[in-house]
Amino acid sequence: MDFKFTPEQEAFRKEVRAFLKSEVTDELVEEVNSGLGLGPAGWEYVRKLGKRGWLVPMIPKEYGGLGASFWERFILNEEIYYCFPEFIQYFGANIVAPIVMEIGTEEQKKEYIPRIARGEIEFALGYTEPQAGSDLASIDIRAVEQDDCYIVNGQKTYNTACHYAQYHWLNARTSTEGKKYKGLSFFIVPLDSPGITINPMWTMGGERTNEVFYDNVKVPKKNLVGQKNRGFYHMMDALDHERMFPITHIQRGLDDLIKYVKGTERNGKLLIEDPLIRQKLAQFAIDIEVGRGMGYRIVWLQDHSKPGGHETSILKVFVTELERRLTYTAVHIMGQQGALRYQSYCSSPIAGWLEHWFLADTRRTISAGSSEIQRNIIAQRGLGLPRS
Ligand SMILES: Cc1cc2nc3c(=O)[nH]c(=O)nc-3n(C[C@H](O)[C@H](O)[C@H](O)COP(=O)(O)OP(=O)(O)OC[C@H]3O[C@@H](n4cnc5c(N)ncnc54)[C@H](O)[C@@H]3O)c2cc1C
Repeated sequence: MDFKFTPEQEAFRKEVRAFLKSEVTDELVEEVNSGLGLGPAGWEYVRKLGKRGWLVPMIPKEYGGLGASFWERFILNEEIYYCFPEFIQYFGANIVAPIVMEIGTEEQKKEYIPRIARGEIEFALGYTEPQAGSDLASIDIRAVEQDDCYIVNGQKTYNTACHYAQYHWLNARTSTEGKKYKGLSFFIVPLDSPGITINPMWTMGGERTNEVFYDNVKVPKKNLVGQKNRGFYHMMDALDHERMFPITHIQRGLDDLIKYVKGTERNGKLLIEDPLIRQKLAQFAIDIEVGRGMGYRIVWLQDHSKPGGHETSILKVFVTELERRLTYTAVHIMGQQGALRYQSYCSSPIAGWLEHWFLADTRRTISAGSSEIQRNIIAQRGLGLPRS
């Protein structure tokens, strides 16, 4: 077992860190904090990452990647999450590109992956429906074959990036025969297709997500990704990519919190002199170390074959619940100041971003599968226990 990164990977990390230091501007952070996703500054930043081949480092060079491994992607995301904890996931690069690379046709690889790699296009994840969130086998939006197209009708909800993405990564029902999960298929749908309506939904953290309606939308058959009626399995693989959370944003939160307690007095004493606060901070250091190890193990699995489905659930539940514990603890330690909004830059400690997380975090233990569902997956696939 070798726990060291190669000298090339260490050099790559340094290069990414230097890039982020100069490119993550206040304007970019401000834009992301608006909750609206990628705007002008966000697109520019993504294209700059794309120019270096950094959006999809694990993809072969002929499709716009670096032909590197999943380690480079993880290193990159570790650095991004540390420097820029507010950053939103770039779904096209992290989820769609590796899945299309694995199961897409040659035409689809050539059409979508190089544009994702250059940061020209983004995808919105189209899984959840009003009756199908945790139970994705119940997806009911219908795709019915007609000549050289599928005609799609139905509704999605909580589809976050639809208002700025160009494409919908749509999971739809193509068969009503047999078991529910054996009748789903994946499609790539341009979001400006006639018949699509996108309405905003606002979360308590100030982030925009969307409900999406399909009314007789024509989707060419060539946009079917992977095997027809195998879409549930492909979606599980896509979720494995989505649940690959690095832990470095929590490290950043801890580092900032430590700076705060070292520099803040209450009742004439620095907060760091309180042994209970020191104990709490030390526990976070332990948990971060555990989470780091979990992440590295899954990257190793990705590089050698594929995680078995429950490993990314362990990581997801651990990281998102740790993130929540950290923000709760930070807000408690900061007292009244912990409730200042991130817009109150001048007066709010830690630029208010822990408060922002505190509210935004609620979604992290829900989206990409709730903590309860992750525990079900771990019980069933990891421990071989019966389905509930
Ligand atoms: C801010 C935000 C952004 C999102 N972005 C996207 C997106 O871009 N694309 C997309 O497709 N989806 C997105 N989602 C949807 C998200 O994946 C679902 O909300 C999530 O999977 C839960 O589904 P649900 O909301 O239908 O809740 P339900 O499935 O109705 O669950 C309600 C509660 O019951 C619990 N529960 C349900 N079934 C079980 C069970 N079998 N055992 C134990 N407990 C259970 C759940 O854990 C939850 O606490 C987003 C959600 C949020 C909040």
